[in-house]
Amino acid sequence: MPELVDVVVVGGGVMGVCLAYELARRTLRVALLEAYALGSGVTGSGFAWLNATSKTESDERYFQLNAEALKRYERLALEHKAENLGIHSGGTLYWARSSQPQQIAMLRRRADRLQALGYPYSMVSSGDMEILEPLVRFRPPNESVEGLFAPADKWAEPLRLIRFLANHARNHNAIIKEYCPIESFHTDTLGKVSMVRAGGAEYATRSVVLAAGLQTPALIQLLTSNPQATQAVPIKQVPGILADTAPQSAEGQARRVLYPPDTGGLHFRPTATGGLLVGADDTDALAMEGSLDAKRLNEIGRSLLVRANDWLPQLALKEAAQGMSAYLCMRSVPQDDYPIVGALPGVNGVYVAVTHSGLTLAPLLAHLLAEEIMLKQMPPQLAPYRPDRFL
Ligand SMILES: Cc1cc2nc3c(=O)[nH]c(=O)nc-3n(C[C@H](O)[C@H](O)[C@H](O)COP(=O)(O)OP(=O)(O)OC[C@H]3O[C@@H](n4cnc5c(N)ncnc54)[C@H](O)[C@@H]3O)c2cc1C
Repeated sequence: MPELVDVVVVGGGVMGVCLAYELARRTLRVALLEAYALGSGVTGSGFAWLNATSKTESDERYFQLNAEALKRYERLALEHKAENLGIHSGGTLYWARSSQPQQIAMLRRRADRLQALGYPYSMVSSGDMEILEPLVRFRPPNESVEGLFAPADKWAEPLRLIRFLANHARNHNAIIKEYCPIESFHTDTLGKVSMVRAGGAEYATRSVVLAAGLQTPALIQLLTSNPQATQAVPIKQVPGILADTAPQSAEGQARRVLYPPDTGGLHFRPTATGGLLVGADDTDALAMEGSLDAKRLNEIGRSLLVRANDWLPQLALKEAAQGMSAYLCMRSVPQDDYPIVGALPGVNGVYVAVTHSGLTLAPLLAHLLAEEIMLKQMPPQLAPYRPDRFL
């Protein structure tokens, strides 16, 4: 006998899990089907910075969507406690040196935009910054620095977050299946989705959400047998490289997400186990150039630690480098960089939810899409992000 469910969610990354959580708490019966373990896609290996401050150059609606998503996290934390969710507040600190007028100008421009957009921030002196981050070397001799502190930004432990939300959904009657890849979809004579087969079981349903990141177009193809249908969800793969140091190797070195005045876009933050997570825009660009073997990735990881050490002079570099893992991961980025959320044109009852900045946006996008599925009405905030804009 097939299991009767209101909604099947495909994909156990942050997007799918947040959806299962939002649907289950609205008393819908949900089955979340994940091909591997929860979080084994991009979700488990990103930088997990929850922020709006990096989006000041995007369009205003998108900036406000991110700002609203941070408020959603605050509500989640009020309800479930930040430590249970693996959410770390502390904000983001950017700074620039007086010897680099271009960087000072960029910092001030970011501040002007944040002011215009109504997002909390303050300009901070080197004295303030030393209080925020006592172990960081902000100021080279004979130079002054300017800082921008955005207290509403956060960072997350993605696996802790999604495991907590998945358990909560389970407690609200959701079926959460890992190692359960989709085998087939079925539609009725009117073209409405009717059943999903996965992991040897059948789920009878009237609604399916595809939240499978990079694999979403392949699932649309499986569902429709029509390569053209995948045009509604054009996704590019954008690689990123992160260096993650061993537990306790950088205890207390950084207390929040830090953006020093590094021309290559270096950024780092603490990890929950007392390590450091480091990335940079210029090393991400190296990954675009071609395949990297383990040795090259390790060299890149070490170079990221050396750069972080410029700002964290007390970091025990040798120890940090010893247990470091450097890895490459593919972002699933919609072609125009904005989320793709809503009904898939052409197949009744099927929705898609794919986005970049998914750690930041998933709780809010999932809340909005759950409202839509429940009320059969599109929330206005989702209007710019519909799949049919690509057709
Ligand atoms: C280097 C890097 C840094 C990043 N930094 C940030 C950041 O600082 N802040 C931020 O907000 N975002 C960041 N991101 C992006 C963020 O991690 C992603 O947007 C988010 O994790 C996407 O979640 P998702 O659930 O859509 O996709 P995924 O996590 O990829 O989940 C999709 C799931 O679908 C499953 N699946 C696929 N096919 C099937 C199938 N046939 N059957 C069943 N299941 C299937 C997969 O196994 C996978 O678990 C970063 C990404 C990278 C790579």
